[in-house]
Amino acid sequence: MVIETFSPEETEELGIHFGKEAKPGTVCTLIGDLGVGKTVFTQGIAKGLGITEPINSPTFTIVQVYEEGRMPFYHFDVYRIGDIEEMDEIGYEDYFYGDGLTMIEWANLIEEILPEHYQQITIEKDIEKGFDYRKITIESI
Ligand code: ADP
Ligand code: MG
Repeated sequence: MVIETFSPEETEELGIHFGKEAKPGTVCTLIGDLGVGKTVFTQGIAKGLGITEPINSPTFTIVQVYEEGRMPFYHFDVYRIGDIEEMDEIGYEDYFYGDGLTMIEWANLIEEILPEHYQQITIEKDIEKGFDYRKITIESI
């Protein structure tokens, strides 16, 4: 599925819709360059789950857990992961195969431990279509 947005509000709205529709145990990966709108989209997902607190990039913690919504939200940013064993230490399986919604930024760095099925969300710019244009692709893997 491909959706085009033309403002941050539209991208957030798409995230809200995604968060409202998400089923427990869903794992998603989020791909896109710096400043493309990953946090905007993720903030929308959180809102869609009923989380009111702001979502920050969990850069120094690998995973940030939000329990406030209709299901737990596990927000991973594995950018600074050194070794895949760090994921074992965190106990990633409890999140990936639990009853919440897992979102993983920089998931390509932990490809070998991704579940068999997940939703891959890619956000891209196309400067020819305007500064605020984003192409958002959601694929079932
Ligand atoms: P990332 O987390 O991918 O590094 P952010 O979500 O923090 O990026 O920032 C995206 C930036 O792009 C914000 O400043 C936002 O206002 C801007 N922006 C412009 N157009 C869009 C759009 N269509 N969707 C999302 N963000 C947009
Ligand atoms: Mg971000």
